[in-house]
Amino acid sequence: MLKPNAIMYLTILLILCMTIFNNTTASAHSPSACKSGGEGSGWKVNCSNGPPGHLGQQSTTYAYASGLAQQYKNITSTGATRWNNSGIVRISYSASSNNYIHQYSNTNTNTVAYATAQTFNNHKSRWNIYYNHSKMNGRSAAANNTTATHELGHSIGLGDLTNSSNRNKLMYGTETRTVTTHQAADRTGAREAVK
Ligand SMILES: [Zn+2]
Repeated sequence: MLKPNAIMYLTILLILCMTIFNNTTASAHSPSACKSGGEGSGWKVNCSNGPPGHLGQQSTTYAYASGLAQQYKNITSTGATRWNNSGIVRISYSASSNNYIHQYSNTNTNTVAYATAQTFNNHKSRWNIYYNHSKMNGRSAAANNTTATHELGHSIGLGDLTNSSNRNKLMYGTETRTVTTHQAADRTGAREAVK
């Protein structure tokens, strides 16, 4: 038989669990509240249900996967600082983060880097960035800093732009882009992605 103290404890525990569940649910918004933009806007946000999703909050953290070379830590830090300077989002290193920066090597591809994510209620619950060492090693730091800033744009929830009219945006998806950091349109999208 449970003592009154134990019943009270279990009741409090149950209320706590419900509170946590309700807060998590309440923090999500309906997909229709997310503006997805488009090529004509010069920015795209991943609003649809499921990955890759958008950040849905103004701060996020990252940690380093084991074996990550210093140069990739450096460019990630630079990319984060560039976004942080926008005042829209705060991206910071945390050893306990569930979001990881990785490197890999694949010469048999045009992919320089890519990002992945898991979502919960359309918002990113985990994200990863993968730098292709065989493509990035030996490139200029400036080029790699731009790649890192672009990939962190994905971590916020911005999608790739493919129309050549958007070559002058950070989120243009290929290396023929003509800018090195986020532009006004990229920032407009980022403001939507953190909502
Ligand atoms: Zn991209």
